[in-house]
Amino acid sequence: MLLRAPDDSSCRKCGSRIAREEHVSWVEWQDAAGTVGPYHIECTPLEEDRNIARLAHEAAVKTMSEAAPAPSHRLNPSATASFREGQAEARKKLIFVSATSVACALLLIGIEVNLPYQYYVILRFTVCGVAALLAKEFFVYPERGWKYCMFVLAIVYNPILPIHLVREIWTPINYVTIPILACAVYARFFYVAKVKE
Ligand SMILES: [Zn+2]
Repeated sequence: MLLRAPDDSSCRKCGSRIAREEHVSWVEWQDAAGTVGPYHIECTPLEEDRNIARLAHEAAVKTMSEAAPAPSHRLNPSATASFREGQAEARKKLIFVSATSVACALLLIGIEVNLPYQYYVILRFTVCGVAALLAKEFFVYPERGWKYCMFVLAIVYNPILPIHLVREIWTPINYVTIPILACAVYARFFYVAKVKE
């Protein structure tokens, strides 16, 4: 008979310890089967108990594997990798959309308001940085034309060897830069994403 050991005891066959509450096979009557008392499942002389325990174990394993398909999915390396990839891409998209918005806002303010030279230095750094990072992004994407376009923008706005032009020339350049940056971000993070789907 299968039951939980009522007390700490020892296996009647192998003599090693049986803890209280452990599943044991209990021999109730002393006969050809063996000695009265608890046995380990694997030690019991009762074949019937061994069979029941084996079936119960098999059923438990089956239930566990049926009830918990999620862990195996979670542990699927390719699923995990694509999930991480998606997360990284979403994060990158957010960063680029934010940075480009800031660059466009700086451009617009720079056109509309006459601000000190330092403002335009910051503007150059921001636009050049965004354009350079976008150029890098387009290296691995099909829209290669964007790569050169962003490269040219990065040079025009580079703060290291600044191109000095009069305001009348900078203003249209700044105006044109805004939709170019917006379209580049769209092409990289929205249009390509759609194509990939
Ligand atoms: Zn035993």
